[in-house]
Amino acid sequence: MTGTGGTDAGCIFCEADAHPRRDDLILIRGRVTYIILNLYPYNSGHLMVVPTRHVATLAATTSEEQAELMRFTRHAEIALTEVYKPQGLNVGVNLGRPAGAGVLDHLHVHVVPRWNGDTNFMSVVGETRVLPEELNETAKRLRPVFERLAKADV
Ligand SMILES: [Zn+2]
Repeated sequence: MTGTGGTDAGCIFCEADAHPRRDDLILIRGRVTYIILNLYPYNSGHLMVVPTRHVATLAATTSEEQAELMRFTRHAEIALTEVYKPQGLNVGVNLGRPAGAGVLDHLHVHVVPRWNGDTNFMSVVGETRVLPEELNETAKRLRPVFERLAKADV
């Protein structure tokens, strides 16, 4: 729980990476990061880019993790724009409870498609909403796009 790396048995992001049964939520795996759908999405397509290693802060990441986090965040922008055609996107990291972090010990970058008229991004945290779209349907739409982008190495 110190954020110094490795895995943590009680951590949902470490467990998601380690358990194949969660593969339905994982969209793609890189060398040191992966992309997973949010179980309680704010909007359809709400995903998170996550370092595989159990690290709590950007400060604790390696340069390789930083590079792949940004590369996958960029892929997320491209994929969500292509599939959902949102009018905007939130890209955000919440560090610490006052900042709205739901999981404190394992860094994750939220990427959320936005449309005119949906409510404020800050209300995302800790709120359970009616699912806009079934998660397996979301995964089915996004996964091929991420695989294509990874293969093209863009
Ligand atoms: Zn973890």
